[in-house]
Amino acid sequence: MTAKRQDLLNMLCDLSDLSALVTGSENIENFLQRTVLLVSGHLETPVCSIYLYDETADELVLKATVGLNPEAVDRVRMGSGQGLVGTVMASSQPVCEGHASQSPRFRYFPETDELLYESFLAVPIRKGVVKIGVLVVQHTEPDYFDTTDITALKATAAQLAAVLENARLLMDLQRMCSIPEKLACNQSFIKGQRAAGGFAFGRARVWGKSHVRLIAGPDTSESGDMADFRRAIGQTAAQLDALQRRCAERLPESASLIFAAHFMMLKDPKFIDRMVEKIESGSPATRAVRDVAGQYIQLFTDSPHPYIREKVSDIEDLAGRLMSNLVPLADDQNGNSGGKVVIARELYPSELLKLAAESVAGIVLANGGVTSHVAIISRSLKIPMVVVQCPELMHLDEGTPVLIDGDVGNVFVDPDKTVIDRYDARNQARRQVPVAAEPQPAGPTRTLDGTRIHLLANINLLAELPLAGQMGAAGIGLYRTEFPFLIRPSFPSETEQYLVYRKVVESMTGKPVVFRTLDIGGEKTLSYADAETEPNPELGLRSIRFTLAYRDIFEQQVRAILRAAAGSRTPAIMFPLISSVDDFRKARQVVTDCLDQLRAEGLEHHDHPAIGMMVELPAVVESMAEFAAEADFFAIGTNDFVQYMLGVDRSNKRVADYYRPEHPSVLRALNRVVRVAIEHKKPISICGEMAHDETMIPFLLGIGMRRLSIDPQFMPAVRTCITGLTIDACQAYAGELLAAGSVSAVREILSRQPNLAA
Ligand code: PEP
Ligand code: MG
Repeated sequence: MTAKRQDLLNMLCDLSDLSALVTGSENIENFLQRTVLLVSGHLETPVCSIYLYDETADELVLKATVGLNPEAVDRVRMGSGQGLVGTVMASSQPVCEGHASQSPRFRYFPETDELLYESFLAVPIRKGVVKIGVLVVQHTEPDYFDTTDITALKATAAQLAAVLENARLLMDLQRMCSIPEKLACNQSFIKGQRAAGGFAFGRARVWGKSHVRLIAGPDTSESGDMADFRRAIGQTAAQLDALQRRCAERLPESASLIFAAHFMMLKDPKFIDRMVEKIESGSPATRAVRDVAGQYIQLFTDSPHPYIREKVSDIEDLAGRLMSNLVPLADDQNGNSGGKVVIARELYPSELLKLAAESVAGIVLANGGVTSHVAIISRSLKIPMVVVQCPELMHLDEGTPVLIDGDVGNVFVDPDKTVIDRYDARNQARRQVPVAAEPQPAGPTRTLDGTRIHLLANINLLAELPLAGQMGAAGIGLYRTEFPFLIRPSFPSETEQYLVYRKVVESMTGKPVVFRTLDIGGEKTLSYADAETEPNPELGLRSIRFTLAYRDIFEQQVRAILRAAAGSRTPAIMFPLISSVDDFRKARQVVTDCLDQLRAEGLEHHDHPAIGMMVELPAVVESMAEFAAEADFFAIGTNDFVQYMLGVDRSNKRVADYYRPEHPSVLRALNRVVRVAIEHKKPISICGEMAHDETMIPFLLGIGMRRLSIDPQFMPAVRTCITGLTIDACQAYAGELLAAGSVSAVREILSRQPNLAA
């Protein structure tokens, strides 16, 4: 670095220089442009660029440049970790390349013309832990930058960080305040994550936008008298009735209550009579519906309770139906979701169900997250669903054509004909290929050397039971009883639960069924439970802690299970998230009390269910012997066990790299748990995702696991895997894995793909 450049750098580091830059700029874009000019001047480089981090799209965006093609500003975008600039962002470390184009991490953006610049130096711009962007300088001369330049650029970035952070926030604000004409997250194609497979092509319905339209009203003139209004009410009630029946067919556990709120409102004097009053005093029917619904929506939107906010969509939906029965609206204005692609920030399971009843074509969740149960229900209902990180999609015009590919997670907004034709062709080809019936497995699953492995099914919804049967499940190792609770708008009664559980028992025709008691809280929230928001829901009042706290809810469920199990041979009740023997005893006492009640009431029930528990918390490992003395059986829930063992939120993608089922401590703890259960002759199974992971199955068999409970669709692959293994080889392999002391060492062994058939 020349003395002149050092002097100029000193000048840049002078705060007054920066503040002059801010005050002298007309707007943020101009400020950024002046900044890159200044830095490139001081550092004597022909190119200087600022990339800012767009948090909503999780991308770096070129915001200002001198030296690169100015047309590239706002157009060049890259994910964290992509290309040299993305690498700087992901690693938070400078990157200095003497021959940038030869670097394996180099990514060429034709818009920038940057191939001419071989020397590349970039440093992260951060304020504390907040990532703001990347500052880049480039030069035509190879090997131009040295360590002094790195220090200088780092100092410059540190100096700029605070003011650039403000610029970035202001730009975000500008973007949020103006309804974008174009989507910021890459216009017509958005790469997302798949949540439920299949294709859908239809017009967009933006969830939550219709009430704005409802209050503002369509351009058509107001119309309708009292007779029209009464007729519209009758038609709406009949339509809802038909929808409700369709809903109950597709997901029987939803019972008939999914549209209960609609029916109540249709009967609510405050709601309907207010409309009637308005019509009587001269208001056209459409205006009356709009006014009253608008008042309710306003009132409910402001509520602090999630279950009341959820009702907004019910009112909106009902009012939309009344309106379209009063004046037939254009297809994209009638608020109906049939054949459309719904775009929502997030959806409650009960809303998903209503959309299914209307035959929605597909769903895009625009806020980047999906809870596992919403994805499960969507898969079960065969509604393609894609999750994208693109909140701007919520500004999309209603009626815009949208194509989604739930198999890979793609969303196309207003796709051109070639894209549509391509998907049409794929769809047709799919329909023409007959779905081959899976061969029925004959008899139990055995390893190559004849050891029996029990393949049990994990079941969430009644709709999955036939598949479990077809796949030859030896029973149900985990029935997640929270699903009937999740998909309904209110707590199911004991009788309603009984009817659902009875279907489970009957469908298994004498095979064992393990009912796990209500596992809600954490990521599985019931909007209607009106639970307090907890700072750490995964460590809060979830699962068995919730049911022990609300004993009436717990008792109703246990009674329903015991009654449904009447006459069955091997029912079992299992408690989730047990942390101490004391918890287990309290929960078991509830079962004992329920048995006493049922006997006293003379109600038919099963009198001796097996009572077991899930191993999901590290606290259980040390006390396994005490638990084994009391519990009839165990099931290891590795999804949670890994979460709590490693202290990693299982649904937080920011720490996904720390969620390591193959962590040596996890493997060793599993080994101890299984060993103690075997010593005490207590059946033990595994029912987390690890149970269908073919790389982990040899380990599980090697430590003595003989029961795997998995989603039915994985059964054929898991069965094939097991039949190619011998227990001796698995034991030796497990020994090797247990001796490995680091995640990398375990991974290295797992990646070898050894022959375990010997
Ligand atoms: C588990 O934690 O592994 C488990 C099976 O329970 P869930 O995934 O329902 O929390
Ligand atoms: Mg769990």
